[in-house]
Amino acid sequence: MKPKASRKTPSSPLIGAHMSIAGGVALAIDRALSVHATAMQIFVKSNMQWFAAAPFTQAELKAFHEHPRRGEVRSVFGHSGYMINLAAANPEFAEKSRRALAEELLRADQLGLPFLVLHPGAHMGAGEAEGLAKIVAGLDAVFEKLPKVKTRVALETTAGQGSSLGHTFEQLAWILKHAAQPNRLCVCVDTAHLFAAGYDISTEAGARETFERFEEIVGLKHLVALHCNDSKTGLGSRVDRHEHLGKGKIGLAPFEFLMRDPRFVAIPKVLETPKGKDLAEDRENLAVLRELAK
Ligand SMILES: [Zn+2]
Ligand SMILES: [Zn+2]
Repeated sequence: MKPKASRKTPSSPLIGAHMSIAGGVALAIDRALSVHATAMQIFVKSNMQWFAAAPFTQAELKAFHEHPRRGEVRSVFGHSGYMINLAAANPEFAEKSRRALAEELLRADQLGLPFLVLHPGAHMGAGEAEGLAKIVAGLDAVFEKLPKVKTRVALETTAGQGSSLGHTFEQLAWILKHAAQPNRLCVCVDTAHLFAAGYDISTEAGARETFERFEEIVGLKHLVALHCNDSKTGLGSRVDRHEHLGKGKIGLAPFEFLMRDPRFVAIPKVLETPKGKDLAEDRENLAVLRELAK
């Protein structure tokens, strides 16, 4: 007889949500388990500050690594702070961004995270070419400073709000192509950002075609994570506002495609949708993903 698959078997979908680290990074594991997540994304410090108040203590690291149920959350990765802008036109701001990213990569490495998601940067009026060159220079400098850090940087597709870069596959491909250590880079795709940036994934055919373009221009081998968010804003709006799955302008088609296509089975899919303290909305959105996988 075939053994019955339970939620804890590796065959259960690799899905979860962004979880708060308030009270200590180990508590994020408990939050993920409380919604039956098998994957989660975390900040490696308060995302409202440039730098961490203090390095991780041994006790905090131990509580995370030796959490009795750590293994049940099969994929844990980081998201960097929102203030970091490697493409900043102001040199002081650009330098601060490099230092902050370096510190976050070190912290992510201490937690054993495979990658840290990063918004590539915003050129602040300097133009796309100059912005992309600054992003590459920033990544090169940070990686050079941290030869031993194993955590990679996952460049996230952006909505293209303001002067944000990373809203086209070509821009991400350019960064991967010109970076001095491209093996330390990978890519995270956010569905809400794709749609706001003008990629119409609202139908199955559109989603399929968009990921075919991604394969051609960037390469699916670089894809390490998916942010599953519906969008409050319309196609090509270039405005980044996340919505619960199926309740926004995108609808469920791309999520069904991503949950069923075998090429994405091993890619962790996490929600970044609004929620209250009890995480009820996460439970609902994850139930939607599980249902779509059937
Ligand atoms: Zn992000
Ligand atoms: Zn995202």
